[in-house]
Amino acid sequence: MRRVYLDNAATTPTDPQVLEAMQPYFTEVFGNPSSIYLEGREARKAVDLARSRIAEALGAHSDEIILLSGGTEADNLAIKGVAYSPSAKGNHIITSAIEHHAVLETCHLLEKDGFEVTYVPVDGYGMVDPEEVRKALKAGTILISIMHANNEIGTIQPVSEISRMAREAGVLMHTDAVQTVGALPVNVGALGVDLLSVSSHKLYGPKGVGCLFVRKGVRLRPILQGGTQERKRRAGTENVPGIVGFGKAMELAGAEQASRAEQMIRRRDELIRGLLEAMPEVNLNGHPELRLPNNVNIAIKYVEGESICLNLDFAGIAASSGSACSSDSLEPSHVLLAIGMSPENAHGSLRFSLGKSTTAEDIDYVKEKLPPIIEKLRAMSPLYHGA
Ligand code: PLP
Repeated sequence: MRRVYLDNAATTPTDPQVLEAMQPYFTEVFGNPSSIYLEGREARKAVDLARSRIAEALGAHSDEIILLSGGTEADNLAIKGVAYSPSAKGNHIITSAIEHHAVLETCHLLEKDGFEVTYVPVDGYGMVDPEEVRKALKAGTILISIMHANNEIGTIQPVSEISRMAREAGVLMHTDAVQTVGALPVNVGALGVDLLSVSSHKLYGPKGVGCLFVRKGVRLRPILQGGTQERKRRAGTENVPGIVGFGKAMELAGAEQASRAEQMIRRRDELIRGLLEAMPEVNLNGHPELRLPNNVNIAIKYVEGESICLNLDFAGIAASSGSACSSDSLEPSHVLLAIGMSPENAHGSLRFSLGKSTTAEDIDYVKEKLPPIIEKLRAMSPLYHGA
């Protein structure tokens, strides 16, 4: 049966060129990069080359890149690393209500440890108002962490404006760019950030690898204790094949970003238009223009996102909802609640995230399959009949 994969915000397939680049590093060049003999030196060379590709793609220096296990670890290291740094001059952190759990749960843990965290609200489009961040700044603020773009609704945040404000206030600025690297131009200088999180598996690289950009001069306390890898900032033997693959994926993302985005925006807009036209009482979640090139998130009244996802899966389409089928949890998404949706409407939300291989036929297929599913589910819905 035909499969149409539209959950690229959850993960992407590894690009065949990436896989090819990685393969020799499992069996031929298998040394530990810390070893001084030939096998080790070859592995070290591969890690250094990948690091320089990653740095170049982000507009950073190689020694500003800490290689680690992915977006979750990068967010944890950025926030805990700054909070527990000996140079931190306070205990207040500012973040937003719609961050990924890797940021929010880290902040919740820090609150238990005596830190104070301000969660700035967002508007109905999921946009952070820089003025809200300014109002939250105070003498003990050490870090602002605002994501570059939201993984659920796709809204792109005014990161460079907030960074400018952070710099003027002498506060460090972190952004979670897990959803934007490869989708938008991401340059640490243009964004003005001190710390930036990247995950390889969101950009056609392997899972379990990523990086944290740390601007020269920013001091972090490591969160893992052990060896002296990554200039004592991240202990543990390097995932050499993963790092090589991540480097290759970053190189491809840099070369292909503009054409990938242009194609995805066209298909994204066609999908939004088609779905809103085909079904009554369906609205777009997130910002109409300032959104990720691959993100479509719609609220479908009177139905459960989980049932829609399961029906779509039977029809050969992979998508995710604002609740259970994306997260093992029956709680409505914190992002959808933060933009002011009722729990019922949040439960009826659906996210399609396009990829670089999504075709016009894939979009037509979804436009054909989804409306009858919604009609069928609404016919069985007491909410629909009540309304
Ligand atoms: N941050 C954002 C915005 C994400 O979308 C994700 C993954 O869904 C993460 C962090 C976590 O990244 P990883 O899966 O590499 O741990």
